[in-house]
Amino acid sequence: MRFAPPRFVPAAPVRVNLASDTQTQPSPGMRAAMAAAEVGDEQAGADPTVWALCDRVAALLGKEAAMFLPSGTMANQVALATHCRPGDQVLAHESAHILSSEAGAQSAITGVLVLGLPGGRGQFDVATLEAAITQPSRYSPPQRLLEVEQTANRGGGACWPAAALHAVADCAHAHGMATHMDGARLLNAQVALGVPAAEQAAGYDSVWLDFTKGLGAPMGAVLCGSADFIDEAWRWKQRLGGALRQGGIAAAGCLYALDHNVARLAEDHANARALAAGMADIPGLVVELPETNLVFFDTKATGLTAAEFAARLAAEGVLVSVTEGTRARACLHLDITAAQVADAVAAMRAAARA
Ligand SMILES: *Cc1c(COP(=O)(O)O)cnc(C)c1O
Repeated sequence: MRFAPPRFVPAAPVRVNLASDTQTQPSPGMRAAMAAAEVGDEQAGADPTVWALCDRVAALLGKEAAMFLPSGTMANQVALATHCRPGDQVLAHESAHILSSEAGAQSAITGVLVLGLPGGRGQFDVATLEAAITQPSRYSPPQRLLEVEQTANRGGGACWPAAALHAVADCAHAHGMATHMDGARLLNAQVALGVPAAEQAAGYDSVWLDFTKGLGAPMGAVLCGSADFIDEAWRWKQRLGGALRQGGIAAAGCLYALDHNVARLAEDHANARALAAGMADIPGLVVELPETNLVFFDTKATGLTAAEFAARLAAEGVLVSVTEGTRARACLHLDITAAQVADAVAAMRAAARA
């Protein structure tokens, strides 16, 4: 097993990159804003652009305070470490990013257990949550935190309805747990549902936004919560090496994204619907109906694994990502046009037939 990613050499010149919404290129306007940023030593509290971003995101998410971090993974881990102690249990959906994609960080760093809850589209209901709640005893791990993802990534980019978010948060609070929202794509949900992010996050003690997904920035996530929570979280930011120097260079890209790249997420959602509609006509592909910018599909009926199908597409310069087995994902983002969507559908039709 090799853990380092190999240096990426495309099988063919890349025409349509649907592999991930993390693969956007910073636009010329964003680069200019970054180059012009006023900066200082962030871990000494001296970076005005980082403060400006934190104030702006705290207001956007309806929280008292915020901190800037290099990545969403660190935002999740700082939050879990701040809420929990070793031996505590976190309740989350069984498809949660913290379970599948963060290298076991919460166990390695904080020593928490994650209990995965079942449910369609990356969501679970109050009855499922209630059923997982144990009587406090000396045997059971302390149930400290509820975690939800909005949008649910492996749940197909699905949006929890705001009422469902509030219902599970109320249930968790009633049982003495804190609540955390992995809002990597929360602004996609704001645009898709037409419900302000602050309203969606209202029942959550901590919530963060990723700027490196559909928002198109090269780095950065902002974690929000009460002033006391963010104060405590600073110890973990420092401990994990997430305290920065001239972080304003990166924060300026995030501020630019808030000004220019939020409303346009609707275009990604329209492109996702167009892609899914085009793929639905391709024999052998079973496509999940997209709610936001992610299009998950199954290749089983083509006789190909997702990896084989993706390799055929890559040979034509169309990139998608493999989830597992016969499940694959295509991501729409700001570097993808409607014309490229049509091009990708044609390539998928040929790959499914070949
Ligand atoms: C991408 C993602 C993360 C991690 O964010 P990074 O910025 O890549 O570290 C966490 N949760 C979800 C749901 C994600 O999609």
